[in-house]
Amino acid sequence: MPSVERLVGSTAAADLEAYGRTAFTDAIRAVLADLRAAGGPVPDEPEIRAAACARLAAARRPSLRPVFNLTGTVLHTNLGRALLPRSAADAVAAVMVQASNLEFDLGTGARGERDDHVEGLICRLSGAEAAVVVNNNAAAVLLVLNALAMRKEVVVSRGELVEIGGSFRVPDVMIRAGCRLREVGTTNRTHLGDYAEAIGPRTGLVMKVHPSNYAIAGFTAAADPAALHALCRERGVPLADDLGSGSLVDLTAYGLPAEPTVRAALARADVVTFSGDKLLGAVQCGIVAGRKDLIARVRKNPLKRALRVDKMTYAALEAVLRLYLHPERLRAELPTLRLLTRDRAAIAEQAERLAPAVAQRLAGSATVSVAACISQIGSGALPVETLPSAALVLHPDPGGGPGRRGAGGRCKRLAERLRGLPIPVIGRITDDTIVLDLRTLEDETGLLDTLAALASPNSESRSQPGC
Ligand SMILES: *Cc1c(COP(=O)(O)O)cnc(C)c1O
Repeated sequence: MPSVERLVGSTAAADLEAYGRTAFTDAIRAVLADLRAAGGPVPDEPEIRAAACARLAAARRPSLRPVFNLTGTVLHTNLGRALLPRSAADAVAAVMVQASNLEFDLGTGARGERDDHVEGLICRLSGAEAAVVVNNNAAAVLLVLNALAMRKEVVVSRGELVEIGGSFRVPDVMIRAGCRLREVGTTNRTHLGDYAEAIGPRTGLVMKVHPSNYAIAGFTAAADPAALHALCRERGVPLADDLGSGSLVDLTAYGLPAEPTVRAALARADVVTFSGDKLLGAVQCGIVAGRKDLIARVRKNPLKRALRVDKMTYAALEAVLRLYLHPERLRAELPTLRLLTRDRAAIAEQAERLAPAVAQRLAGSATVSVAACISQIGSGALPVETLPSAALVLHPDPGGGPGRRGAGGRCKRLAERLRGLPIPVIGRITDDTIVLDLRTLEDETGLLDTLAALASPNSESRSQPGC
């Protein structure tokens, strides 16, 4: 085993400078310790040095970083949901490094209101009278409940008492918001009469909840939305509709399945809540939009201060909302819509075209075939609707010694190596293959570049300065 002094001493000055002599020495020491513990044959000096560089490069990588989402779920909550258009990213960058008029009225020189930057746009695009923005839609629901129905009853259909995921459960949120839940109807059927019977002097709010990741089929009934709205108006109780995703445009105009638009929902509710990073295609935030008097109560609630969003969120949201002012360009400019509307044939053509290059980079690890597959929108939007797509299917090579590892183990190991790439590649595992749905692949060169690193174990360090 070569000594630490010898290994450091024979390292090029540039390499030492890239990471610093102390850090480099520590890394060499750690590699040698591992080798000693492993007890195998001693690798040559360049290989030990490369292992140290790989260690240093890995330690330097940020924890939060880009990946290739090839899971087939376009709005993947665990992979960051909607992708921003470049214009929005530029708008964020601009306010990040300079002071901004976040709460400053440039006309009068007086204090301004941060929601002013987007409220007009939201109203214009949805028909709402007023709107506020908070941290996410979960926060929007919490705020609406607390502002409009604290210490009062909230009437909800039993069929809509859903868990959205990530422990967001409607009944629990009600309790935290200080409201009492008044369930009406049954899991599969709720009638207008059920609401009429439940609404009384203790009622603060009637709430509708989009079932999102869940669908009730068969013998079902829900109260007619217009009739329910009329009933609430007659009794003087506000009606809130938690849309979850919601959309600012009619998705059927783009050949996608129907999802309630915010405008349509506001025609039969007094306030609506929806996410900024689901179908809207902007950043994480929650939007409360609707009747002016109710939004004023929401804005005055002390929780609004606790749930408010940063200037970066307003910058991104404003830039995305501006794209909606030109619906004819939206499909090209808004990544979420562009990816959702990609044509199956175009994705299949892309898969056929990329297959040989991907196969070349995976040589010795897996063979590659092209197959039809199904993408999904994700984030609870349209749970039962799916989008026909095409994928590259990776079939891991046997290898690793006969009988040492089953097909499932090889597949897991390949998935692990894909996650370890400079830009990790995330697919889904099906029948001992890794399916890479290409619906969400736009940066083909980037994918081929990162896959090229599969060929050599220390490849990640190669791209780093000095190694
Ligand atoms: C997704 C969703 C939420 C939570 O929205 P976030 O923006 O993820 O906080 C709340 N309600 C419904 C119906 C949803 O679909």
